[in-house]
Amino acid sequence: MSESSTIERPYLIGIDLGGTKILAGLFDKNLNCLARSKKSTKASKGYRFVVERISKCVEELQKDYSFDFKEVSGLGIGAPGSINSSKGSVIFAPNLDWKDKSLGPDLQDQLNIPTIVDNDCNLATLGAYHHEFIGKVSSALGLFIGTGIGAGLILNDELYSGFNHTAGEIGHMVMSLGGPKCGCGNKGCFEAIASRTGISKAITNEIKNGRKSILTEMLGKDLEELKSGDLRKAYAKGDKLVQETIHTASNTIGIAIANMINLICPEVIILGGGLIEQMDTVMMPIISKSAEDHAMTGAAEGVRVISTSLGDNAAIQGAAVLASRM
Ligand SMILES: [Zn+2]
Repeated sequence: MSESSTIERPYLIGIDLGGTKILAGLFDKNLNCLARSKKSTKASKGYRFVVERISKCVEELQKDYSFDFKEVSGLGIGAPGSINSSKGSVIFAPNLDWKDKSLGPDLQDQLNIPTIVDNDCNLATLGAYHHEFIGKVSSALGLFIGTGIGAGLILNDELYSGFNHTAGEIGHMVMSLGGPKCGCGNKGCFEAIASRTGISKAITNEIKNGRKSILTEMLGKDLEELKSGDLRKAYAKGDKLVQETIHTASNTIGIAIANMINLICPEVIILGGGLIEQMDTVMMPIISKSAEDHAMTGAAEGVRVISTSLGDNAAIQGAAVLASRM
């Protein structure tokens, strides 16, 4: 028997690589999270630097929960962008300014742990699906609303990433002809209306046009640093402008979901992301009602629209699920 087959490998690692932060989790074989570590990405310092940061994040897990890398059977990582998961490469990740990077093989060389890569929203969907719905349904759409908007799709219990590995780019579906400008260069994208970024731009424009909001008292005139938690506080204090904008965004999210129900009719739609985490109780009822109102008659019947209880652990959980299947 070879040495490697006699070593116990009780651990898995899941990583969520974002434009601003890297989150890593150590998991046991039953996919319980044992430890977490977090670092800022510092993407502007370039690809090699970020690979080093990811390694450091994993080393911090090791310090926290002393284990040997040899005891880790696999590492899964979610990256924001289009991913060729069979090659482990990032095809295009605009938030990181990456094109054609061999992230999987490079991390594997560095850490000597078998590594698998997928899109971050795909993995967040897989994580939430596995945690809450495995064995209960066989299709799901995950929709994640924060700085941007992304989605993941599970069909027949498997992640579906599409012909060009770009399925789930729901944030760039045009929802309003001639609407607000999007970071992608297009106008009226879903993300330009209903992401936290889109919401703060809409509020900023209204304030410039003379409307009042307590956000300016809370944060000053520059609302660029506006966080989802600030929206929650202003909403709770009865700020009319924030309430209207959140209602418009929630209604738009419901319409996008209705369109998805008409197209693929998944059994469950799982929402997550920073904005949903902060504003769950306000937004979810509006989203559900709008989805039901706008879907074709009968199409939304029995389709559940829920928010995930995993919070920002969804993607690391999904990355660990993927690693467990290697
Ligand atoms: Zn766009």
